[in-house]
Parts: sequence; C-alpha cells; structure tokens
Amino acid sequence: MQRLTQQFIDNHWIASRSERRLPVTDPYRQETIAEVTAGDPADVDAAVGAARRALPAWQALGGERRAVYLEAFADALVERREALMRLSSTNNGKALAETAIDLDDAIACYRYYAGQARALEARQGRLVEHGMDGIEARTYEDPAGVVGLITPWNFPLVTSAWKIAPALAAGCTVVFKPSEITPLPEQAVAEIALEIGLPAGVINLVHGDGEGIGAPLTAHPGIDKLSFTGSNAVGEKVMRAAADGTRGVSLELGGKSPILVLDDAEVEAAADWVMAGIYFNSGQICSATSRLIVHASLADALYAALATRIDTIRLGDPLADDTDMGPMTSARQREAVEGYLSIAAEEGLIAVRDARHRELPAQGEFVAPTLYRDVPVGSRLWREEVFGPVLCARSVDSDAEAIALANDSAFGLAATVISGDADRARRVGRALRAGSIWFNSEQLVLPEASWGGFGISGIGRELGPWGLAGYLEVKHLIGPAG
Ligand code: NAD
Repeated sequence: MQRLTQQFIDNHWIASRSERRLPVTDPYRQETIAEVTAGDPADVDAAVGAARRALPAWQALGGERRAVYLEAFADALVERREALMRLSSTNNGKALAETAIDLDDAIACYRYYAGQARALEARQGRLVEHGMDGIEARTYEDPAGVVGLITPWNFPLVTSAWKIAPALAAGCTVVFKPSEITPLPEQAVAEIALEIGLPAGVINLVHGDGEGIGAPLTAHPGIDKLSFTGSNAVGEKVMRAAADGTRGVSLELGGKSPILVLDDAEVEAAADWVMAGIYFNSGQICSATSRLIVHASLADALYAALATRIDTIRLGDPLADDTDMGPMTSARQREAVEGYLSIAAEEGLIAVRDARHRELPAQGEFVAPTLYRDVPVGSRLWREEVFGPVLCARSVDSDAEAIALANDSAFGLAATVISGDADRARRVGRALRAGSIWFNSEQLVLPEASWGGFGISGIGRELGPWGLAGYLEVKHLIGPAG
C-alpha cells in the first residue's frame, strides 16, 4: 500500500515528489482503502530519463529475447490470477466472474505479443519486390522510441496490457500512467517487471492524476509517442499536447454502439446478447451496445424478455459468488449516470425498467439496470456515452432503416447484429461504421483481431499486428543489389 506514494522508476520504488494524496476506494464498501500520490512533473521527468537510457539496449536485444520476457510476464500473471481478481474486484467493483475474464484477456495479450516479437525479428530486412533492375530494397521496423501510456479505470490490467505488451514487443521503453481510481491492481505491472528481471528502465510506472502526471507526460519532449485510452475530452487534450513536437498519438476513446435485432432473430437468444452488451461491468465499457435498434415486429416481445432478465440481475458484493453486477467504480461515476437518469425524467423517456422497479443494496455505488424504449434520436441519452447500465431502444421497419440509424452517430467503436440468417447478419455488419462488429455473439475479444474506432471513437488500432504497428517506425535500405 505504501508503494502507492512511490513511483516505479529504473526498477526502484522512489518517493513521489508530490505531497498531494488521493483516496483509493472500494466502491462496494464505500471505504478508502489506500492513498495514491497525485504525482509531480519531476516524477515524469525521472521516469522518461530512465526509459530513454534503457531504450538502446532493449531495442538491440531483438524480438526473440524480448519475447521471453513477455512470456514470463504472462506466466507471472497466471500465478497471481486469483489474488489480482480479488484486488481488481475490490478496487473497481466488478464481479469476480468479470475480473476472471479480464485476467485471462491480459494473459492472452502478453502471450500473443511474445509471438509478434518473434515474428518481427524474423521479418527484419526482408526484400521488397519492385521493378528496378540491379537494385535491392530491404524493410526494417524499428521501435517508435520512448512511449507514454495512459489508461482508464474500467478494465485494470487489460487496457494496460493492450499497450505495454505490443510496446515491449516492438522494442519501445515505457512510461505507464494507470488511472488514479484503480492503481491497486496495476501495481502488479511493476512488481512483475522486477520479479522477471526486466532490465531497469524498460517499464516505469508513475502514479497520479491528470494534473500531476497525465498532462506533464503528454507534454514531455522526451516522449516519442503517446497512446491513450479514456474519455474524448481528455483524448483531445492529449492530441493537442502531442502536436507540440509532432509526436505520434493513438487514441482509444468513447462509444455509443448499436445492437441491431433483425426481424428473423430468435427473441430469447437476442435478449441474452443484448443483456451482455450493456449490463456487463455495470455498463462501464467503451464498446457497450447502449443503443438497441429492433425490428418493430419483435419490439414488444424483446422488451418483455429484457425486463424479465433485468429483474433477475443480482446486484451485490463483487467478491460474492452469487453477484452478477457490482457497483459503479466510483461515487463520481454513479453521480454522472444519475445525472443522465434525471435528464431522462426531464425528457419524459418511457422506462421499461428504471430505479422505481428495483431496490438497491444497502451499501455501494449502485445504479439500477435501466431500459428506456422509443427514445427520440435527439435525446441526450440516445446520442451521448452514458457509461452506465442504461439501455436506450428504438424500433425500425427495415434493415436499411436499422443501418442508417446505427450509423447516425459521431462514434464508431463497436456494433452487434442479431439475425436468424448468418449471411444477412454479415451483410448488415459490413454496412456498419465501426471497428469491432459481432454477429449472433457476445462481445468476444481476440488478441489476434483489431480493436479501435471510426469517427470520434479514436485514432489507430490496438491488438493484432495493428497494435504492434502502432509502436513501430518503418524504414527501408535501398542500394545496389548483391
Ligand atoms: P479519463 O479520460 O477521465 O481518464 C483516462 C486517463 O487519463 C486517466 O489515467 C486520467 O488520470 C488521465 N488524464 C486525465 N486528465 C489528463 C490530462 N489532462 N492529460 C493526460 N492524461 C489525463 O477517462 P476515464 O473516466 O478514466 O475512462 C472512461 C472513458 O474511457 C470512457 O469514455 C470510455 O469509453 C473510455 N474507454 C475507451 C476504451 C477503448 O478501447 N476505446 C476502453 C476503455 C475506456
């Protein structure tokens, strides 16, 4: 716990230069369980210096040897899996069944990028096919350099794995700033770096908030590339900061994703997938399918099936085996969602289920799972990311209308299509403007497939070979053949 007032720099825990402390809470017990430093620009400076000193040797090590560290990282997460699940559920509030998925996702990510590190080394210097006689051209991919990685609180250890693993595979060195809301599980990143003998300075973890660490990190001239996951408001600040010095930036931002239920869908299965798309993690998911677009012929039956399921969601202690949904991660997020529920009341939205239908647990930052029907497209709840267990629904009369409504959003992160005909689902899926589109499925995440958004949902892609490419610079050596 004491280490949360220290920064992990050059493989040492060093006291933060800041005296400012922030409470770290358990949102179910509504208790302060630790204090984390707010961080200081001097901490960032020290971390960037360490990462820069470590860069040449880490790059020179090559992909094969970096892969061994990535595998060791995955193994260390496997060993800590149960303990980290409990820590993450305590600090974030999500049910244990959900943190189990998070840990498995992170472990798979480190393993996948071990393979990518090896593949990178194997393809260095490959010949380019071209039409000029007597000339050879070879392709090399070098690390982007020292990278600044900033993550949110909704998927601790996952959003960080999606950045740290490809950055290390590419040969970059890292200054990582986890969310100040969920610093406890993210401590494992530093502990594992020490345990597996990662060279000093390859990973530096700096705790703090936007003011203490985030903004100074994005402004630091020693950072070559920034990768940020979080809100649109902060993402735009990060991009502006990156403009000074013409530094690269990848952004994974918000969403207002649609789920389309076509007229040939089986209602009960559709209801299960709709539920998984919005109420998982109490709706605090960037890819939450928070706009339900259902064919008019199925609408009433689907809303009834959803109401039944909503009534059986068990709210409670995230550490209890019989809990389906934990509290919101913070009092602030609960208040933000409640703000939207007040707007819904002012706008006169029709609730199939809302707070009136459900008694909340006596303690915890809970919001009742909520479903509104026939929501006007002009409603703020239809257009804005709520980031809570709030589903808005509308009915349509054709696939074309469903596609147009789905694409009528500034966001474009994810979508789901449900149909009795897989080919029809694929066709509709192809017409949607989003980075991840599922059909007749829950939201499966594959480390081999990409993650990222169209429009204001972000810039660039994580996961898959695209995730690695975000941390590489391509260069060519061209000259006489032979
Ligand atoms: P946030 O933008 O408030 O914070 C994200 C991170 O940025 C935190 O570590 C925070 O301390 C830091 N930060 C704050 N001010 C900063 C500044 N001025 N400069 C640099 N860093 C600063 O977001 P949040 O509330 O933690 O997370 C919720 C948001 O994240 C939602 O909008 C959600 O959609 C998005 N998200 C997106 C994805 C994705 O993959 N697209 C995944 C998870 C979450």
